[in-house]
Amino acid sequence: MLESSYRDTWAEISLDAIYRNVTLFKRKLEPSCKLMAVVKADGYGHGAVEVARTSMEAGADYLGVAYVDEALQLRAAGIGHPILVLGYTPPRSVEAAVKHGIAITVCSQDVLEQAVASAQRWKRTAVIHIKIDTGMSRLGVGTYEEAATLIREASRSPAVVVEGLFTHFADADNIADDAYTRKQFGQFTAFVRELLSDGLAVPPLRHCCNSAAALRFPDMHLDMVRIGIGLYGLPPYDQADEEAANPLEQALHLKSRIIALRTIAPRQPVSYGCTFRSEQERLIATIPVGYADGLSRALSNQGRVYVRGACTPIAGTICMDQTMLDVTDVPGVAEGDEVTLFGGSGPAFVSLGQVAATMRTIHYEVACLLGKRVPRLYM
Ligand code: PLP
Repeated sequence: MLESSYRDTWAEISLDAIYRNVTLFKRKLEPSCKLMAVVKADGYGHGAVEVARTSMEAGADYLGVAYVDEALQLRAAGIGHPILVLGYTPPRSVEAAVKHGIAITVCSQDVLEQAVASAQRWKRTAVIHIKIDTGMSRLGVGTYEEAATLIREASRSPAVVVEGLFTHFADADNIADDAYTRKQFGQFTAFVRELLSDGLAVPPLRHCCNSAAALRFPDMHLDMVRIGIGLYGLPPYDQADEEAANPLEQALHLKSRIIALRTIAPRQPVSYGCTFRSEQERLIATIPVGYADGLSRALSNQGRVYVRGACTPIAGTICMDQTMLDVTDVPGVAEGDEVTLFGGSGPAFVSLGQVAATMRTIHYEVACLLGKRVPRLYM
C-alpha cells in the first residue's frame, strides 16, 4: 500500500477535501477579510506541513499554531507565509520567533520587552498580536488599560509592529444560545472603540472568529478569521440542516486490513479482561491497529467499523497494537480485507463525530489522537 511503510494500517488524508473546505470558508468572507489556517497540533493530526501548503494554495493568508516549535517546523519545511503563535510564548522563546519572522501573541510586559530586545538584537521587526480575554478565561489581558499600555509601549519601539488585536470565543458552537458570544464580541469591539477614542492606532488585523463563529456570525468576521476544525471537514457545531448549507468534507480516513481470522466456540472470550463473550460461535478478525495508533480504548465493545460495506462491531478490549472485530455477519469476509475505521464513503462512512460520541469526547480530540506511527498517505 505504502512504499515507506510495512504496516497494514494507514491514514488517507484528502488534501483535495482540505482545499475545498478552505474554498468554502473563503467564499463566505468579504474579499478584504483574511483567512488564517490553524494548523497547530500537527494540523489536528493531519500533518501540519501538508495542510499548511494546501491551505495556502487554496488562498489562506496566514497560518496559526500554538507554540513556537510548531512554527519553526513550518519554517524548516520552507514555508515562508505569515505565521502567528496563538498560544503563550515564554520570554526565552521569543527570540527564536523574532529571528524566524514568526508573529507572537503578547499579553504581558515581559514578553513585549523580550520582543523589543530580540528585534533590536537581530535587526528584525517583531510582529505581535495582542490578545484580550473577553470571557474564555484562558489567556489574554483582562482590562482595557492593560491592552492600551501594551500598545502604547510597543509603539514606542520602531522594531515592533502591533499587527493584530484578538480574542477567542468560548461558546461559538452553542447553537441554542449565542448570548455569550455576542457578549464577548461586544466587549472586544468596545475595546477597539476605546482605543480609537484615546487616539491610539487600532492594529490592522482584528480577529475573533473560529470555524463555528465564522459560519454562524458573518457580522463578526472583522479583518481575519481563524479556521481550524472546519479545514479538516469536521462540522464546527451540530445542526443537521447546516450540513447541507455548508458541505464540509472530512479529510481523514483511517484504514486497516484483516490479518487473521478465527472461529471461536460459544462462551470463548476475546481480548484482555475477557470482556467479549457470545453464546454462539463467532468469527473474529484481528486488525493491526490499537490505542497506540489513536483508536481509543473507550471504543472497546462499542465502536463500529466497516468491512465489505458491512457495519461491524469491535469485539473485546482494544489492545495497544491490535483490535478484534466480530465479522460473523460479513458475507465472504477474508484475510486481507480492507477495514474502514474512520471516514470512507457513502453509507459505509464513519464520521469522526460518531467516533467521538461513542468515546464521549469531541471530534477534535479523535483527530489529534491519531498516533505518530500511523503512516499518512496524502491524496
Ligand atoms: N483560534 C484559537 C486561539 C484557537 O485556540 C483555535 C483552536 O482551538 C482556533 C482559533 C481554531 O478553532 P476551530 O478549530 O474551532 O476553528
